[in-house]
Amino acid sequence: MPKHFNTIKRYLSVEEKRERAQDYNEFEVDQVDIDEFVKKDIFDETVILKCLNCAFQEEVDYDFISEYWDESVSKYPESYCPKCNMPKVVPLDVYNRIKHIK
Ligand SMILES: [Zn+2]
Repeated sequence: MPKHFNTIKRYLSVEEKRERAQDYNEFEVDQVDIDEFVKKDIFDETVILKCLNCAFQEEVDYDFISEYWDESVSKYPESYCPKCNMPKVVPLDVYNRIKHIK
C-alpha cells in the first residue's frame, strides 16, 4: 500500500474467486487449479480519485495507477480528468489534504 494515501481492499467471495479462475482458464494456456485458487485470499484493490479542478470523482484499480505512477518520482499519482481535461486528478486523501477537508 502506498504511504501517502489509502487504497480500498475488497476481498472476493468464494463464488467470485471461482468465476475469476474459470474466466482465466478460458483464455490462458496455463490453467489455474480452481480449488486451490478459491482457498487463497484474493482481493481487488482500488483507489478513489478526485479532480482538484472540477471535483469529478471515480474509483479505479490500483494496478492501473501503479502502471503509470512512479512512487520514487512523486508522492502521489496525478492524471488527466476525463471531465475537464486538466491534469488535476489525485487520490481522494490527497484531495482532502489540499482542500483542507477534515
Ligand atoms: Zn476535472
